[in-house]
Amino acid sequence: MKCFVHQDADAVGTCRACNKGICPACVKDLGHSICCNHGPCETKARTLDSQVAQSGVVLAAQRRNRFLAPLFFIMAGALFIAFSGGGKGSWFGFGHAFGLGFIVFGIILGAASHRYAKELERKG
Ligand SMILES: [Zn+2]
Ligand SMILES: [Zn+2]
Repeated sequence: MKCFVHQDADAVGTCRACNKGICPACVKDLGHSICCNHGPCETKARTLDSQVAQSGVVLAAQRRNRFLAPLFFIMAGALFIAFSGGGKGSWFGFGHAFGLGFIVFGIILGAASHRYAKELERKG
């Protein structure tokens, strides 16, 4: 492959933005990608790269938070049960039912997100 600008020069790679061949004289190193060092390609390539980086961050955060939400509901439910008792006559009160509901919801949420994550991993 030859450089898009210099037809006699061998290209060292392709531009991240316009996918044309670029030679060492035309290349602009962006860290983990390269683009033409002229025209609007640098801005476009940087935007593309930052979008990729952002989606990576979002994915990592989703993976990290997978068990946080279910855990929160289970903890909240446990706290509800712990503080709703305390000798007010009825052992199983509204607080207990509410807390149990939270815990069940947390478990279902955890199972659902676990299955969803498994499906994502299978798809790659
Ligand atoms: Zn380009
Ligand atoms: Zn060139």
